[in-house]
Amino acid sequence: MTHSPTPSAGGCRSTPVLKERGQREVFCGLTGIVWLHRKMQDAFFLVVGSRTCAHLLQSAAGVMIFAEPRFGTAILEEQDLAGMADANAELDREVERLLARRPDIRQLFLVGSCPSEVIKLDLARASERLSQRFAPRVRVLNYSGSGIETTFTEGEDACLASMVPVLPQTDARELLVVGALPDVVEDQMVGMLEAMGVGPIGLLPSRKIGDETAIGPNTVYALAQPFLAETHAALGRRGARHLPAPFPFGEEGTTAWLAAIAEEFGVSREVFDAVTEAPRARARKAVAAATETLSGKSVFFFPDSQLEIPLARFLTRECGMTAVEVGSPYIHEAIMGPELDLLPNGPRIAEGQDVDKQLDRARADRPDLTICGLGLANPLEAEGLTTKWAIELVFTPVHFYEQAGDLAALFARPMRRKAALRLEAAE
Ligand code: SF4
Repeated sequence: MTHSPTPSAGGCRSTPVLKERGQREVFCGLTGIVWLHRKMQDAFFLVVGSRTCAHLLQSAAGVMIFAEPRFGTAILEEQDLAGMADANAELDREVERLLARRPDIRQLFLVGSCPSEVIKLDLARASERLSQRFAPRVRVLNYSGSGIETTFTEGEDACLASMVPVLPQTDARELLVVGALPDVVEDQMVGMLEAMGVGPIGLLPSRKIGDETAIGPNTVYALAQPFLAETHAALGRRGARHLPAPFPFGEEGTTAWLAAIAEEFGVSREVFDAVTEAPRARARKAVAAATETLSGKSVFFFPDSQLEIPLARFLTRECGMTAVEVGSPYIHEAIMGPELDLLPNGPRIAEGQDVDKQLDRARADRPDLTICGLGLANPLEAEGLTTKWAIELVFTPVHFYEQAGDLAALFARPMRRKAALRLEAAE
């Protein structure tokens, strides 16, 4: 039984990758806290950083979503940065005050930043020390969200990777789905898998520490997000086995992702079709509504979220667009291979960034739509290009069948707006 989509003739798996290492224009990994703090209901993210980090978080969370009190910043003052104060003692006091005030916190993440890295504050040791002190009530872990080390989706990867070594051990056969998804989308996904008889299903991250799944050599895992290379490596070290698959974006990606799991768990073709037929038809119809605007247009991806390759596959295969360049901060062969097989041959594939060179290429290509970070969008709009902010794709529910139409609409909207403005100007 196979439910796999047909690889694109040629595909992009063997396309030479343009590797660039220059100036980058992306947010740092602290940004991930904005969606992680909503997902993990008994966790707290304590950023050990400067006022700049606090401002970034507050403005990102405050503007984009309703901020709940599940994150904060332990501010490193000038005397800390100058090495005049014992930053460890201050951090311990800060954690003590926080945990005394908030008995609901069961999991505390100490999140490193550029300043904490510059002064070489050892957060791994701090989390061990604090874990011993506050166990078993609170588990203290650490990861880095610093802009020196991470781009904005890597914050989630670093966070999830920090949890893998402390998950309990099991020999039971089970499926683990990895990557933070909005609750409503996660419920849809679990519902479909359970309807196929797949289970037990664990989730990383889980909503509460008590719901955490155990892992071991009989765990198979599917990545729901493409930016989880560190977590993928950490799960491998625990003996779990990866199910390579395209990502669940669009009708085709969702079907292929579910099919990889269905095959692993021996689901029959009849059962698979019975569960997926209706939502597949809904997804195709919803995508078709946006395709009118997108079909025949060109798209250029600057590297930002690591969603670029799966999204380029969706836009080219399901929406009729042509990709001229697909840039990604990193391209992990084992994770991205199935996507590259499906992406039609043709676009330049770029890894990393040298922003000036890439801007020159975009100006030469004059794509109909450019997907980029906030910092590049305004200058490119001023030059007459139509842009879409990559960060919105991470903040908006876009996975699986029921969101496929919304995903296509996210790309169609700026193009419709630009066309309407042109019309207005012409009148
Ligand atoms: S971690 Fe670094 S890049 Fe991110 S807000 Fe703080 S100082 Fe800026």
